[in-house]
Amino acid sequence: MALPDLHMHTPRCNHATGAPRDYAEAALAAGLKEIGFSEHAPMPNGFDQAWRMSEGEVGDYFAEIRALAAEYRGRLVIRTGIECDFRPQDLGYLEELTRAYDWDYVLGSVHFIGEWGFDNPDELAGWDARDVEEVYLAYYDLVAQAAASGLFDVLAHPDLVKKFGHRCDTARVREAEARMLQAAARAGVALEISSAGLRKPVGEVYPAPRLITQAAKMGIPFAFGSDAHAPADVGHAWQTCRRLLQQAGVREVRSFAQRKPIAHPIA
Ligand SMILES: [Zn+2]
Ligand SMILES: [Zn+2]
Repeated sequence: MALPDLHMHTPRCNHATGAPRDYAEAALAAGLKEIGFSEHAPMPNGFDQAWRMSEGEVGDYFAEIRALAAEYRGRLVIRTGIECDFRPQDLGYLEELTRAYDWDYVLGSVHFIGEWGFDNPDELAGWDARDVEEVYLAYYDLVAQAAASGLFDVLAHPDLVKKFGHRCDTARVREAEARMLQAAARAGVALEISSAGLRKPVGEVYPAPRLITQAAKMGIPFAFGSDAHAPADVGHAWQTCRRLLQQAGVREVRSFAQRKPIAHPIA
């Protein structure tokens, strides 16, 4: 059985192509039974507005995906989610946004260290001015805070910091990874296994297989996402992700309805 794909976008974020219906059709063509949309949420005061839907669009987005779900009922399960950027100072804003609609689930992502969008190709030069180990430590600390916030059902691409191939595997980084996993385990939040990394310079799923194995041993749940920004990416490499999970001893992945987890066995 194909894995539910809970991570895909729409043109509302200004950097994805294809109508939501095209993603649904691509999912059916790929043999998927369940998908979820997770558009990039607005951030306070219009921060990073070029890369996300605006506050004024959230209601339309929610209604559009709900209508699509009704249209495909019986053929394809379509969940209505959202991908929120976590910054510690935005907790109140995020609480309000996640409560304002009847989301099936909320993905929590870290794309910013301070003001710096470390995974934005336009901000790649920011890496030159920084120590890679310090970036990794700051990144994992933020993901741990996102987990502990209790705001999210899934931590999206939880080692995104490696996207452009900057690697760091020091003892301090391993400790920070462990703290992140402990925070996830304590909060009961799922980790996303994301095939998007296979399409990026790093050429590896998020999170790395070593982290998948550690998380599995700790009983942390998983959810699958392609992070599709085009219909052709829907369900991308779900078989590879399922195999990696199976090799780590993971027996199920999650989807969500009205913020309640649904288990999908992957044996
Ligand atoms: Zn995006
Ligand atoms: Zn995304």
